[in-house]
Amino acid sequence: MKDWQIELLACPFEHEPLDFEGEQLFCPKCKRNFPIVGGIPSFVVSDLAQAHNEQEWQWKQSEMRARNQQAVFYDRLLGLIFLTPFEAQMTVNALLGDRKKFANLIEIGCGTGRMLQHFAKHSEFVIGADLSLESLNRCRKRFENLGLWERTLLVHADASFLPFRNESFDAVASCQMIEHVPSDRMRQRVVSEIARILKPKGRFAISGYHYSALTKWFGKEGVHKGGIYFFRFTREEFLKLIGQNLKVERLQTIFGYAWLASGVKGS
Ligand SMILES: [Zn+2]
Repeated sequence: MKDWQIELLACPFEHEPLDFEGEQLFCPKCKRNFPIVGGIPSFVVSDLAQAHNEQEWQWKQSEMRARNQQAVFYDRLLGLIFLTPFEAQMTVNALLGDRKKFANLIEIGCGTGRMLQHFAKHSEFVIGADLSLESLNRCRKRFENLGLWERTLLVHADASFLPFRNESFDAVASCQMIEHVPSDRMRQRVVSEIARILKPKGRFAISGYHYSALTKWFGKEGVHKGGIYFFRFTREEFLKLIGQNLKVERLQTIFGYAWLASGVKGS
């Protein structure tokens, strides 16, 4: 692992800096080891179960399995092929605000890198975190093919327990991930974790399913095929969730399909 990568990482439990020893990372405080699998440090350890209730952990395990299976064909899903170019442009614009480029940028829930590849143009260093190791492996191949791997760090992590140091990122994006976090309590944790790792004045853009006239027929809350939990947000629900820890400057809808909240972290 490179120095710039180790300097961003922290124990997901108490945010201590980690030591890099052999082929793994070690937390001197809680004595946990975190393996590095194919260049990707993994922080999805079984101890995380204790921080969840049984239902929450079951949903997360179920999503992990589904995403691992999906990883091979995810980029070819018809809806995503249509939506991605528009969604990427809107999200990049929302994230940048009045900025041109970031020193570092992280996407929480980067999956196979569908959006991360667009973000990469606007940041010197690119970091992606995801719950599915298979998706991250695909993402790594994509970034290698694009010649971007040298300035990329991919991390296997739970969005509610991020393995990064406080105030270490210029920009945090999360695209249609938070609706799959299986409880209001854990969704709030995601937002507070995003606020924690952002530098003061750092920018964010977070999108999540919009409960609109268009999407209401597909249900407010439920389970997608393959066992992926989802929750659709009303405007009030989404603003309340994000606004609890971050100052929303702008709220847009992506074709009535997803909300996109963006703004800056108050110092
Ligand atoms: Zn620790």
